[in-house]
This record gives sequence, C-alpha cells and structure tokens, in this order.
Amino acid sequence: MKNTFCALLILQILNSNVYLQNNPTVESIIQQVTLDSLYDHLRIITGDKSFYSTEGEFTIVSRYANNVANQYAADYLYEKLNSYGLETFRQNFNWNGQNVYAIHYGEERNQYVMLCAHYDDMPYGNFAPGADDNGSGTAAVIESARILSNYSFEYSIIFALWDQEEQGLIGSDNYAQLAGDRGDSILAVINLDMIGWDSNNDNILEIHTQDYNLSSWLAKYVRDINTDYNIGLVTQIIDPGATASDHYSFWLRNYSAILLIEDYITNQNGTSDFNAFYHTTLDNLNGINQNYFFKNTKLGIGSAASLAFGDNLFTDTNDIVIPSKYILYQNYPNPFNPSTTIKYELPKSGFVTLKIFDILGNEIATLVNENQETGIHFTEFDIKDFDYASGIYFYALYVDNFSAVRKMVLTK
Ligand SMILES: [Zn+2]
Repeated sequence: MKNTFCALLILQILNSNVYLQNNPTVESIIQQVTLDSLYDHLRIITGDKSFYSTEGEFTIVSRYANNVANQYAADYLYEKLNSYGLETFRQNFNWNGQNVYAIHYGEERNQYVMLCAHYDDMPYGNFAPGADDNGSGTAAVIESARILSNYSFEYSIIFALWDQEEQGLIGSDNYAQLAGDRGDSILAVINLDMIGWDSNNDNILEIHTQDYNLSSWLAKYVRDINTDYNIGLVTQIIDPGATASDHYSFWLRNYSAILLIEDYITNQNGTSDFNAFYHTTLDNLNGINQNYFFKNTKLGIGSAASLAFGDNLFTDTNDIVIPSKYILYQNYPNPFNPSTTIKYELPKSGFVTLKIFDILGNEIATLVNENQETGIHFTEFDIKDFDYASGIYFYALYVDNFSAVRKMVLTK
C-alpha cells in the first residue's frame, strides 16, 4: 500500500516576501464591475425603482421578513440570477422564509466558493429601504453573478442571498445545517454585510475572522486581493471577529468563512464609522458612499474569482511566517473526495512524519517522512487512484516530541 501511494504535493512557504503575479483574467473581471449596473440593482432592491416580472410591476418597499414585499425581493433576486443562465434555487425553510441562490458550476463540480449576503432588512413596518443593511451586499452578489457567469472556473461558485438574518441568522443557519449534514465541500464563504457606508472617506473595510478551519488564511487572502489588484481599500483584519451575521452559521459547521463589513469595531483611537441610520427607515440611498461601495464590490468579486480559479490557494502571500508552536490543522476540505490538503506548522526544523490510518488503526499511507524546515507546510492527500472506502480516517503528525492526530472523512 505504501509504495503505491504517489499523488502528493508539498508546497513549502519560504520565509521571505513573495509577491505573486496577478491573474489577468481576475484583473479583467474586476474591471467589469460598473457603478451603473451595481447601482441599478441597489435602486430596485431598496424600492427606489420598480421592476417588472412576468406577473407585473412591483416595488420593493420593504424587505422585512413578514412584509409582502420581502417576497417581491426574493422573486426579483431569483429572476435576476436566473437571467444570467445560472441554475437557480429557492430554499423555503419556514412558513415565509426563503433563501435564493444560484450555482455556477466549475470543473470541480462539488467544491464550492460561496459569495453571500442577507437580503432581508429592518425595521418592522411598511417601509424599510435597507440600502446599506444589506441592499449593498445583495447588489454586490447580483453584480458578481452577472459578470462571473461568463467565465469558466476550477471550482463552483454559489451566489447566495439569505432571508431572516435579522431574526437570528435563520436562513443561513438552515442552509449551513444542510450543507454540513450533506458534507458539502465549501472551500470559502465570503459574507458581505453592510459595505456601503463610509462617512469619512477613509476607505476602511473590516475583514472578520475567527479560528474556524482556514478562516484566518481566507481573511489574509482577501486582504491581499485588495493590495495585489490595487482596489484601494484600507483593510483591517478583526480576529476574533463578530458573530452577528451569516458567516457565523458556517463557522458553526467548521467551514472557512469571513465577513466583510464597513468600519464597525471601535479601534484603538476610540473611533468607528458605523452606519448612523442602522435599522431605521433612513438607511437609504443617500447614505451610500458610491465609491466605497464600488471598491467593496470589486474586492468581493475579485476574491471570489481568484478563489474559484484556484489561484494561490494555500499559500501565504505577503506574510513572513515563523510559527510559534507545532500545529496540525483540520484538513481542508473535509469531508473530501478525491483530495484534501493537510496543513501544519513547524516552529523549528526537524524530522517530520505524517501518516494516514484507517479507523481500525491500520497504517495505510505515509505522506511525509523527511527533514523539513521551519514554517507552514501543506500536503495533499489524493485518493483518486486508490480504492479506499468511504468513512473515517485519521492523520497523524510526528516531529521531535510532538505528535497530534486528527480525524477526516472520505465521502464517495
Ligand atoms: Zn445586516
């Protein structure tokens, strides 16, 4: 068994700055975001402009969960995503709750990059434009779908719009629960929630992460998209990040997820720049900083495209990384089929052994058995050419006096 195992890839991170080459297709995708198109989606979503469906003319005066116009919003989003030629779905999860999402299938049909936002809003009543919260994120997802639907990617992209976020992340929780139970391979979740308010034009955008799966790696990846593609935002990684939006539903199922949000957390200078009209009827188009909103949309689409092309996955781009301790991470994706990546960190060089065991403790493969340098290491485990059964496996790392074991699940 050991001899037949060959498909492994080790990427080693050097302790130096690495400036990665930009992908010209991602450049071009980012350039195709237009403020006109983006703003047109936002005007309709906030009820500033009516839309026509097969059933007539509608105005989305509110997207509050139990307002009838929340349903109009769902219909508009469904028709819009569908009009881009994407397979589009409605997920009904309670008597009036409905997520709307579309899938743009990639080469790896069952591995997903997700760009998402909640479309429902506040306050209760018969009028709620919800421009920043969260017409902004919703419009950015629609604009991204419009452009990305014209390209072919390595991984599938899910454009998801959640309902009933304001009632406690109900829509996203339903989706994430099903995804977790099915064992969906979601490589990355980017949640856009309030990306239109910047009253002082400082271009600060917060990227919220916590230690779930590779969320912190994802936060740095998105931060680097902003720099590498000159988008012009001032990003701040917040760790531990807030749990008050839909990315949290994915953290709870141990998916890699981040939140992009305007300047929300009070910084060391005691300032923040959060929407002054949050959850009021005054959260309207007047409060949208168009240039800032435009840049955030570019960051969202650029990140989703880059991830879906598989660009620079599992590499740290601009960081000098010297780990402080031995860490063996959860494999990624997990569950997996046919391949998964195992990440670990070595605070100093040493003789490293990484082995795979079946559930009975039988050794079935050795992935690493050699001296390795200080740093972050990645090893791919690929079962393509082998006849392993579905089920639970273990991987174990041994180096010096350190050892660690983790569980992974192969699905077929
Ligand atoms: Zn929100």
